[in-house]
Amino acid sequence: MIIDLRSDTVTKPTKGMLDAMITTQVGDDVYKEDPTVNALEMRLAKMFGKDEALFFPTGSMANQAALKLHTNPGEQVICDKYAHIYNYEGGGASFNSGISCKLIDGHRGMFTAEQAEASINPPDFYHSPLTSLIAIENTTNKGGGAYWDFEALTRIKEVTDKHNLGYHLDGARLWNALVATNETPKQYGELFDTISVCLSKGLGCPMGSVLIGNKELMQKAVRVRKILGGGMRQIGYMAACGMYALDNHLSRLEEDHKKAKAIAETLSKLSKIKHVEPVDTNIIIFELNDDVNELEFINKLKEKHIYIIGMGSNKLRMVTHLDYTDNMHEMVLSILKDF
Ligand SMILES: *Cc1c(COP(=O)(O)O)cnc(C)c1O
Repeated sequence: MIIDLRSDTVTKPTKGMLDAMITTQVGDDVYKEDPTVNALEMRLAKMFGKDEALFFPTGSMANQAALKLHTNPGEQVICDKYAHIYNYEGGGASFNSGISCKLIDGHRGMFTAEQAEASINPPDFYHSPLTSLIAIENTTNKGGGAYWDFEALTRIKEVTDKHNLGYHLDGARLWNALVATNETPKQYGELFDTISVCLSKGLGCPMGSVLIGNKELMQKAVRVRKILGGGMRQIGYMAACGMYALDNHLSRLEEDHKKAKAIAETLSKLSKIKHVEPVDTNIIIFELNDDVNELEFINKLKEKHIYIIGMGSNKLRMVTHLDYTDNMHEMVLSILKDF
């Protein structure tokens, strides 16, 4: 048995999800004739109190489309130095939208309204790129699954209003933040112009992300998705997984968070480990002592059939998820205790 804690994307569809998939109705979604996709999009738009939602194959494509909706070539997006849109989307911001990122040196992937406002280039100073967007990530991936204080997000919204900037949320793991804080999707819908959410992470779908926003922006989103090659045909089979996951896999995220906290507690007692970052949701990031070799540590765990991943600079990551069972959890805790 392999215990795969590299990411919450390694999950496989459950029996219930597979059943939902094969019994659903599909059509050609490029003609907007897939009833399951239409239902999923409408459900998510309503859930967030927005006009429209659009199904994408990946979270990267949903974010990339959002960047394009908010910017023109040569302009600039403000984000944290840990942001997924900057670190992990293959340079897509510059490739697809011709924009640059102004990085904020934040804390665990999060920053303040003051930092955001100080990063805006004066619009009449034509030597600098024109700032057109602020992008937030919640929870933060490289920041160790941290969630934002909602008040801080509201204060940044005041900055975007004052300076007439777009406000995008990369909510790949927003579900984890919602479950951990008891905040509602509508609260987020009121704040942000666009929100991307992943179905293929904590919710356990094989693929799919959804971009949510109001009509004016979202009308353009269909064309941008087409340009990026993301117009899909009978994709309702995948949307059915999303519907099933929203019904069945949302509130259980709490279990993932509990397990992650227990792993962190065990790790913090190990002599080989210098520091374990605070665990807010389902991601555990920890740093090894300087004299411990990262690759050796990973391979030693691999010998015990536990897979984890390196994040660079002697930091390692574990992520709990739907396929990480109670049994596996007991095994991991007992293996780690004498590691
Ligand atoms: C996973 C992730 C995405 C999307 O990734 P895909 O692999 O393209 O679906 C976007 N943002 C964050 C913060 C993520 O963790």
